[in-house]
Amino acid sequence: MALINEQFLKLSESYLFSEIAKKVNTFKVIHPEAKVIRLGIGDVTQPLPSAVIKALHKAVDEMGNIETFRGYGPEQGYRFLIDAIIKNDYESCGISLDPDEVFVNDGAKSDTGNIGDILSKDNRVAVTDPVYPVYIDSNVMGCRAGELQNNGFWSNIIYIPCHAGNNFIPEFPEVRPDVIYLCYPNNPTGTALNRKELKKWVNYAINNNILILFDSAYEAFIQEEDVPHSIYEIKGAKQVAIEFRSFSKTAGFTGLRCGYTVIPKELKAFNFAGDKVGLNQLWNRRQCTKFNGTAYIVQRAAEAIYTPEGKAEVKANISYYMRNARLLYDNLKAIGLEVFGGVNAPYIWVKTPKGISSWKFFDRLLFERHIVGTPGVGFGPSGEGYLRLTAFGKYEDTLEAIDRLKTWKI
Ligand SMILES: *Cc1c(COP(=O)(O)O)cnc(C)c1O
Repeated sequence: MALINEQFLKLSESYLFSEIAKKVNTFKVIHPEAKVIRLGIGDVTQPLPSAVIKALHKAVDEMGNIETFRGYGPEQGYRFLIDAIIKNDYESCGISLDPDEVFVNDGAKSDTGNIGDILSKDNRVAVTDPVYPVYIDSNVMGCRAGELQNNGFWSNIIYIPCHAGNNFIPEFPEVRPDVIYLCYPNNPTGTALNRKELKKWVNYAINNNILILFDSAYEAFIQEEDVPHSIYEIKGAKQVAIEFRSFSKTAGFTGLRCGYTVIPKELKAFNFAGDKVGLNQLWNRRQCTKFNGTAYIVQRAAEAIYTPEGKAEVKANISYYMRNARLLYDNLKAIGLEVFGGVNAPYIWVKTPKGISSWKFFDRLLFERHIVGTPGVGFGPSGEGYLRLTAFGKYEDTLEAIDRLKTWKI
């Protein structure tokens, strides 16, 4: 008799986006003539840069030629891509990495979820709240979350609330965690940590033997000088942090799939005997068993992002989205709403007016302005009373959304 992993039964069916889809569908049945503008789901709209398309075509042709065909590649990724990553994303910030400290993958979601494979289920895990749901759900599957309580919190997860009251800057929790997920610039709040604030967390981790899982999927959107692009810009971070990056939002790879994970060799955790063990070697072992590498053509496509042409196109894409972010931010403020994020990230985090709930505000925005957002409470209890809008829409749609908002009596 085959038994299932019972943990899966504790997880609700990805309630948030299916509930949104249901409500939007109902609305469309009632108002078939309405043009609904979707600023809800965090997916990009701009096509891949032409440098990427060119590289893809070339790589596809190589695969059809007996001289240049490639079969299985290295599980960790091809050197051409790893070298481009190190040179452009790290050495440019004064960070040196060895090629075997970088693991190319098929996107950051996989590795932020899979990293639990090399960590004991006895770890106490902390997350900032609201949170990217993958961090919680993957820990439920890995038996680290405990039970879901009526207040929306999992009993074994340590939640670090981030809200307007603390300016979205996480404070050290009362109970010391073993592992903490930090995502900066943040999804969903769109806020960032400056150098001084991130340094506090690195020092806290060093002093308390905590592992930081640092998700910097939105690094390319950083506009302010004082916001670090990599956690390794902070002294000592290589001893305590794994960094996850993704080409998804940076270069439109949400459908193509590529990202990478950095695990420095000096990063150690403990076995039950209290000996230090390098996480790099464990992750390498894990990948070699369960992962057979990212497609060659996709890695060639990712490499093209680092050519002068690719860099210019990526920069233009980011500016396009950040112009949307600015417009949303300014105009929502102008109509009297409290607004956060949007400066170093493509997300705008809106406080609901008059203390109404996230879902109530979502309904009003949909029915009164035909705009779809994401209720903040869907990202965790501290997201109640907020709504997320994304800057990933088309410019024209964003402008139209703003026109509709300008005349809104809230
Ligand atoms: C979009 C996103 C990712 C990247 O996901 P991919 O699997 O690389 O597409 C990672 N973390 C956060 C917080 C995100 O929002």
